[in-house]
Amino acid sequence: MNESYLKNGETLSLDMGACVGCGACADVCPHAVFAVSGGKAEIVGRERCMECGACALNCPVKALSVTPGVGCAAAIIIGKLTGKAPSCGGDGCCG
Ligand code: SF4
Ligand code: SF4
Repeated sequence: MNESYLKNGETLSLDMGACVGCGACADVCPHAVFAVSGGKAEIVGRERCMECGACALNCPVKALSVTPGVGCAAAIIIGKLTGKAPSCGGDGCCG
C-alpha cells in the first residue's frame, strides 16, 4: 500500500449534510474516490485521493474541502480544469 496516498487523502472532507448529490465530484475525480447514491456522495476510496482539488472546485454547494497538494499531477489537473498553465511553479521538469 502506498503510504503517501494515505497521507495525502487525510485532508479530504465531505459535509454530507450540505451535499445535494449532483455527482460532480464523482465525475471529475480521477481516482474514483466518490460514490453517489441516494442523493448523497460518499467517500469510498480516501486512500486513492491525491489532493488535486478538482472535487472541491466543482462542488456547487462547497460540501467538499481538501488541501490541494503541490505534486505535478495535481498541478496539471488543476491547470486543465481552470484553463490555466500548471501551477506547480516548477522548473519545467515535465515539459
Ligand atoms: S482531491 Fe482530487 S483525487 Fe482527491 S477526491 Fe478530490 S478529485 Fe479525487
Ligand atoms: S459535487 Fe458536492 S454536492 Fe455534488 S455530489 Fe459531490 S459533494 Fe455532493
